[in-house]
Parts: sequence; structure tokens; C-alpha cells
Amino acid sequence: MSARDRLRLAVQKSGRLAEPSRELLARCGLSFRESRDRLFCYGETLPIDLLLVRDDDIPGLLQQGVCDLGIVGRNVLAEALAASESAGENLREWLPLGFGACRLALAVPQEWGFLELRELAGKRIATSYPMLLRRWLEQRGLRAEIVVLSGSVEIAPRLGTADLICDLVSTGATLAANQLREVATVLESEAVLAGPVRPFGDERAALAELLLRRLRGVLEGRASRLVMMRAPVSALAEIERRLPRVSARNVLPLADAHGAVAIQALCGAEPSWAQLEELKRLGVENLLVLPVEKALL
Ligand code: ATP
Ligand code: ZN
Repeated sequence: MSARDRLRLAVQKSGRLAEPSRELLARCGLSFRESRDRLFCYGETLPIDLLLVRDDDIPGLLQQGVCDLGIVGRNVLAEALAASESAGENLREWLPLGFGACRLALAVPQEWGFLELRELAGKRIATSYPMLLRRWLEQRGLRAEIVVLSGSVEIAPRLGTADLICDLVSTGATLAANQLREVATVLESEAVLAGPVRPFGDERAALAELLLRRLRGVLEGRASRLVMMRAPVSALAEIERRLPRVSARNVLPLADAHGAVAIQALCGAEPSWAQLEELKRLGVENLLVLPVEKALL
């Protein structure tokens, strides 16, 4: 493929990952002009364009070089990597993105008083993730029959086409509605940025680097909190020790106070109520915990 100076990013066209993917890219400062066919979106702020497709197609499109990067569930990427040797050699997960959390789990009919994995021997397991399931079974020395279904996996036990299922679960509501009970986790998943193993040999490399940096900035900002307070100078060290993952701080003099300072601390996680109450006991006043929009440290 010839050298390109625009980066093409594949995202799900519609479905669970579509909105959060677009929202995350918007937070990274990317905006797009939709084309009439709703297949391509032209990047306006940066030379990064979108390709709107079915999530299952993303690993293949990456492999063929039709797109450069993709946002896809780890479940879909991992299944593709396990399914083909060349995919495993060419593609990898670049960055977990913190949304679309779910797990690929085994679930059995509630009336089956399932106790241990050995009971799976010889059973029929319905799934859309045969490669991940096969590897998981092999790693545990279990032999079971895998029944591959492309959809409606959860009804297979009631239809009699399988004894149990291996499917994606988030809240567990679908399992409960189908009288199924979760008994083991095969893979913890979330949306990830997927891309090539080898670096781009042209302008796309710098663009991918820029996108990664912004994504990391947004993801870190989401978990971060700015904690502001008025504190006795004598308790500074004690206070610092009680704040979660401080990455930057300012200690400012106060015009109206003797022995007191203002502290602004950027924390990598939200301090708990218990931590705030401890600070209060150290003589801290006017405690404020604020969300962080952007950070460039
Ligand atoms: P498409 O039309 O693009 O093929 P789809 O029906 O395969 O869509 P969705 O149901 O939108 O896909 O799910 C996309 C991804 O969302 C899944 O691959 C998974 O990573 C994630 N996800 C999060 N929670 C769940 C859940 N409870 N069930 C299924 N997928 C979930
Ligand atoms: Zn799909």
C-alpha cells in the first residue's frame, strides 16, 4: 500500500460502541463531516477520517489495510487474533478505552446445580466466540463440544441445541431473563484501540502518536480530580500522603492567614469520603473536589 498522509480510523456504525466512540473522539478535539453514504466521515480538525462499519468487520479491514486503526471490543479483536495466525502477527491492542465493559462468560441453566468446571466435560456449549472458548477449555484440560452460533446464543439451552452458553454479559439481565446463571469468566472485555504491530512508515505514524497522546489525556482526565483546600502548613506532608495518586500540586500563600496555605492537588483518582474526613481532622478547611476537563502536565 502506498504512503498515506491521512489516518483512517474504523468505528462501529451503530450499536453499543458507536456513540461512546464518537464522543471520545470529540473529546480528543476531532470533528468530522459526514458523507452522504454514511460510510466515510472526513476529518476536519485533523487529517484523521472515520470509516463506519460493523464491529465484526474491523479486524479484517485492519488486516487488509483498508483502515489504519479501529475501535472495537477486545472480545472481537481477541477472537480474530486467536482465529488466524496472520492476524496474530499483524494486529494488536494499542490502548484500552474505558467503555463498553463486559465479559465473555459461561452460563448454565439455573436448574443445573453446577458446582465445578469438571462438569463441563462432554457438554455442548453455544457461543459466537469459538476460538476464545476453545483456548480457554484447552488451558484447563477440559473437553466439551463447541456449537457455533452467530446470534441469539442465550436461547440455545431452551431450544435444546446446547447445554450451556458462552456469551457476552454486562449487567446479567439477559441471563436472568433466560433463566441462566453465570459460572465462569473466559475474557474481561472493554472497547480498545486496535492497530498494526509494525509502525506506520509515513505521515500516519505522527498522527497515530498524536491521537494516542490525546486519548491517554482524556482517559486520565476522566479519572482525575482537582482537590482544593485551605490547610495548616504544619500538616502538609500528612495531607499529601492521604491524597490518591497526586501527579501535580501547587501550594499557595494566603493573604489573610498565618500558618495556613491553599493547596491545589491533581489526583489520579477520586478521593473517598473517608479520605476527605481524615483531611478535615488534620485541620483542613474549604475542601473542594472538581472534575478535570483537560490536562497537559
Ligand atoms: P454490529 O451491527 O456492529 O455487528 P453487534 O450487534 O455485533 O453490532 P453490539 O451489540 O453493539 O454489537 O456490541 C458491540 C460490542 O459492545 C460488543 O462486541 C462488546 O464488546 C460490547 N458490549 C458491552 N456490553 C455488552 C453486552 N451486554 N452484550 C454484548 N456486547 C456488549
Ligand atoms: Zn457485531
